[in-house]
Amino acid sequence: MTVTPMMAQYLEIKAQYPDALLFYRMGDFYEMFFEDAVNAAEALDIALTKRGKHEDRDIPMCGVPVHAAEGYLLTLIRKGFRVAVGEQLESPAEAKKRGAKSVVKRDVVRLVTPGTLTEDSLLEARRHNFLVSYAELRDQAALAWADISTGVFHVMPIARVRLSPELARLAPSELIVSDGPVYDQTRALADEYQIPLTPLGKASFDSTAAEKRLCALFRVGALDGFGTFSRAEVSAMGALVDYLEITQKGKLPLLQPPQQESEDRTVQIDASTRRNLELTRSLSGGRMGSLLSVVDRTVTPGGGRLLEQRLSSPSRNMDVLTARLNALTSVIEDPTLGDDLRDFLRKTPDVDRALSRLALERGGPRDLTAIRNALTQGEAIEQRVRSLDLPPLLSEAVSSLHGFDPLLHLLDMSLVAEPPLLARDGGFIAAGYDAELDEARTLRDEGRSVIASLQRNYSEHTGISSLKIKHNNVLGYFIETTSTHAEKMQSAPMSEIYIHRQTTANQVRFTTVELSEIETKILNAGNLALEIEKRLYKRISDEILDNAARLNQAARGFSELDLVTSLADLARAENWTRPKVDTSRAFRVEGGRHPVVERALRQQGGESFVANDCDLSAEDGAAVWLLTGPNMAGKSTFLRQNALIAILTQMGSYVPAESAHIGLISQLFSRVGASDDLARGRSTFMVEMVETAAILNQADDRALVILDEIGRGTATYDGLSIAWATLEHLHEVNQSRALFATHYHELTQLAAKLPGVDNATITVKEWNGEVIFLHEVKKGAADRSYGVQVAQLAGLPATVVARARNVLDMLEKSSREEGGSGKIAVDDLPLFAAAPPTPAPAATPTSSAVESLLEEIHPDDLSPREALDALYRLKEAG
Ligand code: ADP
Repeated sequence: MTVTPMMAQYLEIKAQYPDALLFYRMGDFYEMFFEDAVNAAEALDIALTKRGKHEDRDIPMCGVPVHAAEGYLLTLIRKGFRVAVGEQLESPAEAKKRGAKSVVKRDVVRLVTPGTLTEDSLLEARRHNFLVSYAELRDQAALAWADISTGVFHVMPIARVRLSPELARLAPSELIVSDGPVYDQTRALADEYQIPLTPLGKASFDSTAAEKRLCALFRVGALDGFGTFSRAEVSAMGALVDYLEITQKGKLPLLQPPQQESEDRTVQIDASTRRNLELTRSLSGGRMGSLLSVVDRTVTPGGGRLLEQRLSSPSRNMDVLTARLNALTSVIEDPTLGDDLRDFLRKTPDVDRALSRLALERGGPRDLTAIRNALTQGEAIEQRVRSLDLPPLLSEAVSSLHGFDPLLHLLDMSLVAEPPLLARDGGFIAAGYDAELDEARTLRDEGRSVIASLQRNYSEHTGISSLKIKHNNVLGYFIETTSTHAEKMQSAPMSEIYIHRQTTANQVRFTTVELSEIETKILNAGNLALEIEKRLYKRISDEILDNAARLNQAARGFSELDLVTSLADLARAENWTRPKVDTSRAFRVEGGRHPVVERALRQQGGESFVANDCDLSAEDGAAVWLLTGPNMAGKSTFLRQNALIAILTQMGSYVPAESAHIGLISQLFSRVGASDDLARGRSTFMVEMVETAAILNQADDRALVILDEIGRGTATYDGLSIAWATLEHLHEVNQSRALFATHYHELTQLAAKLPGVDNATITVKEWNGEVIFLHEVKKGAADRSYGVQVAQLAGLPATVVARARNVLDMLEKSSREEGGSGKIAVDDLPLFAAAPPTPAPAATPTSSAVESLLEEIHPDDLSPREALDALYRLKEAG
């Protein structure tokens, strides 16, 4: 059995991409064969067919039309596939010239992976799409990350244990590591975060080769101009660039020079804290309900991306924060300025993404006009603020937006207002820009009007008024008439002029020498016009790319302005306040609110949010608030709201409070709620302890720690002891500022012993045996936990509630009697079954129920406790 030449070519290309689906271009379709076809047909829910045989077996096949390929690509990438796009590199005619049986040359022009997307339809406009590379050399490790759709490129040395929190911060779309031990170590982590993990050969991470690759990319002799990098950093960056070369097939994206980050510039937030505080994603996974969704009022995609980045990486640098807050205050104080700027920004397209597509030659005329429209807004912004005295952050942002006069002039002159999507269709270069193009277009268009007058002539000449000149792709221009009239044209003398081309069911088609000549002219002129437009497209695109570095800065300027003005808008609308930030160890919030809960309550239209104070200030040593209060009182909300206020402060925003004074925080830890980690095979208690251990081992005296219900997942006394010891350790060793919510009332005694610990509680009122939540935090300890009342509110059956009250009373009484040990024998409590069922609410208890209970009671046989219990039962039945 011989293999057809086409199949031989297919197999040869496929062999180079065993891990990817091969999209094999055949005319207007991308076809897939064999296993690829089976997998893709299932993933895309399209028909699986067959085509020919290979080794005597049918070849499974499926295909997607080229014009709709992006949508299919997106589905495949989302489902975890990688796709190698194999294109035809010559036309069938060219192939034929090489030999009658030659197959059209094909090769892969791009490997599409989750971390290397550039198409708008494949990307979320407001999120970065980070490709992250992790390198480990003997004693060092580093992380490099880039978003090729915007050109940002960062690198950072990290300690190995910090890989997890950094991945949580960056939320990469794809992670590359070297094949072998590093790949094996990172697999579990990548699985946990659901990051596609791609192993690369060791050569990609070789730091010497990496340095050469980077120097070539940035066209420099040495990397020193960008900073001093460790070998691990160079290795991580080099591997990333190598992977881009592999996936983009040599067409390198426009990466900005690497920006070096360091862990000590941002607040360290571990993965579970980030998840629990719902900074950028809610616990259910979406953006809705996250802090980000509530604070995001940006009007440009770039501004949205910058906001997410700032929120994920709060700063620890006083100068940076002061500059951001000053900028924000100046806009808040001049609301019309903010509104005007936002109007300009709304009209500003995504410069970064347009640039990236142009650099990878995947752009179109609309990317050219995107740059033009952005620069036009840049000029308008500059004019609007020209006479103002702006704080440095704003004036720097504005100055990056303008001064592109020659480029803007070129774009203004050369492009139409609303160009078509594809360059190959032409029609995007403005009239009057290029004389040669204008001439070609005139010829083409005049030709069309000549055709119209020809139709009139022919109609008169033949006396057939219904005669038409039409055009299709097969015949080109032709004269068309009905069969009845056609006879006239087919007989002498007219048959000399009108040459028969085609007869269809009702029509007959003719041409003339004159018509073909004009057609050729029109065609030539049209093709010439397209040629010229293509040439001009390339020239304009090159001109833009020559300005790429400055345009990236302008994009950054737009994003910065968008972020400042959107935060100002938010602060004004929501009545937020400017926090005081310094290097003290203050943490004083007056009238603080939880922005997400507050908004939810407002949307529900019920009760409004109760603002609360929090003061964890301490000159030295620890400052811990021990918070007690019933469930549902608002303990978690209070804990989280203070953490969020700290984060908002350190991203440079105003905060939801009447006033706030925050001494810089270095780390933020939380152990909140029972995070469900059953997937990893750990019990809730185990997870809780692992997270607590991490906090106690790492928190320093500049950390903010939020602990909610430590020790809940185990037996009461184990739990209490663990919570006790944890609180002491935080106070004595970590000396952090901390909020500690607990249901162990015993802990409140510690406030008297430890100078840095204060009791606080959330008030409730009891009314007619029910609790009413006031959500007010005040100093002091809760008197009791109201657990049974809350359970009743939740709709526990009345029998269970009554029984629980009963047991509780016994426990409390016994604990008082036996000197606080709280120990009672099970025998002291009659079995649940012994309790009579509560009658259905509608039925009135009969006196006989009480009577028969009385019958059963033999007072002399009862212990005092049993007597009390019997009384309860009587009361229940009565
Ligand atoms: P806890 O942690 O004490 O069990 P939560 O913090 O989960 O309680 O709060 C329970 C509910 O009470 C929240 O869903 C919220 O609707 C409401 N709540 C909490 N704090 C406040 C507040 N300060 N003002 C108004 N409602 C609040």
